[in-house]
Amino acid sequence: MAEKNYRAELVGVFGDPVDGNPTGVMEEAGFETAGLNWRYLTCRVDVDNLEDAMRGMRAVGMRGVNLTMPHKVEVIRLLDELSPAARIIGAVNTVVNRNGRLIGENTDGKGFVRSLTDEGLSPAGKVITLLGAGGAAKAIGVECALAGARKINIINRNAARGRELVQTITENTAAQAAFFPWEGAAPLPEDTEILINATCVGLFPDVDRCPDIRYEHIRPDMLVCDVVFNPAMPLFLRKAQAQGARIIIGLGMLVNQAALNFEIWTDVKAPREVMLHALMHEFET
Ligand code: NDP
Repeated sequence: MAEKNYRAELVGVFGDPVDGNPTGVMEEAGFETAGLNWRYLTCRVDVDNLEDAMRGMRAVGMRGVNLTMPHKVEVIRLLDELSPAARIIGAVNTVVNRNGRLIGENTDGKGFVRSLTDEGLSPAGKVITLLGAGGAAKAIGVECALAGARKINIINRNAARGRELVQTITENTAAQAAFFPWEGAAPLPEDTEILINATCVGLFPDVDRCPDIRYEHIRPDMLVCDVVFNPAMPLFLRKAQAQGARIIIGLGMLVNQAALNFEIWTDVKAPREVMLHALMHEFET
């Protein structure tokens, strides 16, 4: 009898709270379809235990982990190396264990860019207006700038955070960037070609809310995107659609980000359709 290998390769996510994180459903559906004996473990790890958890993942030879709130920045000091984008963004959502060296990557922004390229679109040469300057906005802004966007406009309530993102983009990429304060219903900069809601406004259960902007400034020639994926069709996108704009939903970014993790960890092409269906099924049940 040939010698059998009962040992599964392990990946997972460390976060707190983390119980409602659906990434494992997508990754495990992908592993099964690709015929990989891999498991994705969803682990609640609080701030005080991150260091031990990272030491533990090295000790048991986990092939990688995702980091979610509140660990995306704190984990950096526990890693051996950062990808160029993760270094600029200053946050890591994916770690890959390459022969004992832990390398930090950020796939949030790359997942967003891939959701554009899936539709035959690209940020290259475009003027992008971002609503928000938090973690998702930063990842998207930096990654779009690295992908050749001409200019990133940032509209944010907290001016210091908005200006800091402008500085991050102008100091580390070839793109221009500008900050616009968010007071009352925000007007859209006239040069906007792609508009992205990168705030959490509209996220379940606040499904009747949408970012406070001048929706009449949305033109039919604009592309409008949302990072909010629950609900799949937030009020923001419905209002943009009513203005005649083309839209891209946040689920694409979520699935692409999970597919990128899959590929970084396994070196196998991710079965994205299967992963998307697994996620949709999860939302429906
Ligand atoms: P952060 O807490 O880092 O940032 C939140 C941002 O939203 C800040 O810029 C904040 O502004 C802004 N904001 C919050 N409330 C309001 C409001 N009422 N009006 C205007 N702006 C507001 O969160 P993240 O960036 O990590 O996450 C943001 C969203 O992105 C979440 O909904 C998350 O689920 C989603 N996300 C989606 C992903 C996907 O794959 N589709 C991946 C990652 C995140 P201020 O700075 O002024 O406080």
